[in-house]
Amino acid sequence: MIEVKNISKSFNGLQVLHDVSFKFETGKTNLIIGQSGSGKSVLTKCIVGLIQPEVGQVLFDGRDFITLKRKEKKSIRKEIGMLFQGSALFDSLTVEENVMFPLKMFSDMSKEEMRDRANFCLERVNIINKNKLFPSEASGGMQKRIAIARAIAMEPKYLFCDEPNSGLDPITSMLIDELIRDLTIENNMTTIVITHDMNSVLEIGENIMFLNQGHNHWKGDKNTVLTTDNEAVNDFVYVSKFLKQFKDKL
Ligand code: ADP
Ligand code: MG
Repeated sequence: MIEVKNISKSFNGLQVLHDVSFKFETGKTNLIIGQSGSGKSVLTKCIVGLIQPEVGQVLFDGRDFITLKRKEKKSIRKEIGMLFQGSALFDSLTVEENVMFPLKMFSDMSKEEMRDRANFCLERVNIINKNKLFPSEASGGMQKRIAIARAIAMEPKYLFCDEPNSGLDPITSMLIDELIRDLTIENNMTTIVITHDMNSVLEIGENIMFLNQGHNHWKGDKNTVLTTDNEAVNDFVYVSKFLKQFKDKL
């Protein structure tokens, strides 16, 4: 479990996160949702240690990341897998080398072990016999799956996915969502997905934090998100009149 407690963060006197608290649960796909500019990325950066909040705690299974020594922070970092927006594969490395990259950086595996692990991860995301291709030779959906293979290479306990569906068609998006959810269950990871894709919310929203202008405005799941009376959540969910009418019939 990752618990954030009373996180506040400002930039140049402008407060972006206001006393945000939440528990991201193990073995679940936890979602951070909200409009653009609501603070989703800043919160995520606070959690993974890229930004230091002025106030608050981030507990990785009870370990308070912010106050840990450098060495202990490093050991938690090794337990974190990241799926970046737009895949962020290394263009000049092959598919296989991309997946081996975190192993080279963080593990003491032999080259053979690294290759085996990379192949295992690639097979798991259904990328077969593509090892020697370069990312530019793969489709958007394939690139995303390669990036997922790279993110799970180190067997992370915590998986962060920033807008995993951006730029993908609806069917590919759904397959990627399902893959993230299945891997979360198989590996008992604490997964955090940042999204503003309603399809994802309804598909994998097992535990949802709704951010509104830097406030943790609401929490719920894929069922309660449709029936809540919270106006800000409704504005987010029922973007069109058609859907509002639909809601009235529920
Ligand atoms: P979201 O990911 O929900 O779209 P962000 O977390 O990126 O939103 O941003 C929240 C707010 O914080 C925005 O108003 C943004 O301009 C501001 N912000 C984010 N990063 C910085 C930064 N490094 N310096 C100053 N302001 C920032
Ligand atoms: Mg963002």
